[in-house]
Amino acid sequence: MRSIVATTHESRPQPRGAGAPRPWRNWARTEQVTPVRVERPASGDEVVAAIARARTEGLPVKAIGSGHSFTGIAVAPGVQLDLTDLAGISAIDESSGLVTLAAGTKLHAASAMLHEHGLAFENLGDIDVQSISGALSTGTHGTGRAFGGLATQLRAVTLATADGRLLPVSPTENAELWPAARLGLGALGVLVDLTVQTVPTFVLAADEHPEPLDAVLDDWPNRSAQADHVEFYWFPHTRLALTRNNTRLPADAPRTPVGPVKRWVDDDLLGNGLYEVLCRIGSIAPGTIPGFNRLASGVAFNRQAADYSHRVFASERTVRFREMEYSVPLEAVAPVMRELDRVIERNGWRISFPIEVRATAADDVWLSTAHGRASSYIAVHRYHREDARDYFAAAEAILRAHDGRPHWGKLHTRSAADLRPAYAHFDDFLAVRDRLDPDRVFTNDYLDRVLGP
Ligand SMILES: Cc1cc2nc3c(=O)[nH]c(=O)nc-3n(C[C@H](O)[C@H](O)[C@H](O)COP(=O)(O)OP(=O)(O)OC[C@H]3O[C@@H](n4cnc5c(N)ncnc54)[C@H](O)[C@@H]3O)c2cc1C
Repeated sequence: MRSIVATTHESRPQPRGAGAPRPWRNWARTEQVTPVRVERPASGDEVVAAIARARTEGLPVKAIGSGHSFTGIAVAPGVQLDLTDLAGISAIDESSGLVTLAAGTKLHAASAMLHEHGLAFENLGDIDVQSISGALSTGTHGTGRAFGGLATQLRAVTLATADGRLLPVSPTENAELWPAARLGLGALGVLVDLTVQTVPTFVLAADEHPEPLDAVLDDWPNRSAQADHVEFYWFPHTRLALTRNNTRLPADAPRTPVGPVKRWVDDDLLGNGLYEVLCRIGSIAPGTIPGFNRLASGVAFNRQAADYSHRVFASERTVRFREMEYSVPLEAVAPVMRELDRVIERNGWRISFPIEVRATAADDVWLSTAHGRASSYIAVHRYHREDARDYFAAAEAILRAHDGRPHWGKLHTRSAADLRPAYAHFDDFLAVRDRLDPDRVFTNDYLDRVLGP
């Protein structure tokens, strides 16, 4: 379905078998580490045993997902838990839609299994190669003014704790931990299973077309609610917003998936192959970028299609990039985007990757970037062969000034001291962390920075 900057990449399989100290790196190639040991537990009890072994040796423990965080949040210098063998559906109730998934289940695998049962995730982000635990632990979200991030779909978790318990946490069990455990940054323990509220299978009708950028910006608080799932991309150096408007339809609505030829042209050739070539040329000859961006805006974004939701929400990304994303209030989108435009042109930067803008409902998850406010998300990207630092620093200054909160899995420079005022329950989260992990078994450098040691 996706047409620009497209396509996925399962991250490389992690080393098989306990004890293999091989280098790990994340998808974006911004982080790498060689853990002391990799373990592959296949049950909750094996996770508890792995934590106990690590504690005996004085080693920190960290579960990893698919390595798709841009930040160092998944870096595991001590014992790295690879949950590949802890996957699949462990319980399903088709009438209520409540489904319990083992913690290492990949989102795309979960979607396929749910589909066989007439069920679907209510909403998803741009890709589906993440593990359910990894995606939830960093506050992964999609778009949709009436919909929250993935954490709002969660109903219960089982947490393997530092003191060797398998702790059920939900609004009715150990309820005081629930607002923290819904989005725990991997700082509270190791998730063993997660119960999700799914919805009956549905079709998404996608309408992708360009519109004048200024008109979309001026009307964003309304425009973002004019379809169930609205987003747009803006290629710097152009004046077009490439809008994507997805409308939810019943499961028996006519499906008109993009045909294999058009999909190949749009997603594989334009979205990945050609785009990679253009980005490479742009990194060597930045003067070509404005022209390429106008080309990309013109050719790659004009189509309608309808298919089952999970095939429309998620796409593949093979062109590697770096990303920073902040949530801001809805009304901040227009001024932020205009300031970004000005700072890019003033500095003479040539930016080949688009800026993505989405919106979600407010929620009540303590560390959610949408906590307490309807939010827009503004994501800046830079091709991985280019130096992103100046651009991201300028973008971060603008986003911060508009009350921005950084995505926990995407690049940012914030630390505990300046994140605290952004979250009403920051200290409540820290109190839960102190209670569940007083010895900091689950910490790493990133968590020390954003939560404190
Ligand atoms: C190409 C690309 C597209 C993306 N698109 C989106 C998007 O549309 N929307 C969005 O919001 N984000 C997006 N992201 C960010 C991504 O969703 C998050 O960074 C997510 O956390 C990655 O999931 P993962 O499985 O790779 O987790 P990892 O990066 O491997 O881990 C993330 C965190 O989860 C923890 N964790 C993993 N498993 C467990 C467990 N069992 N128990 C406790 N903690 C655990 C890790 O310790 C770590 O702290 C994108 C990233 C990329 C690279």
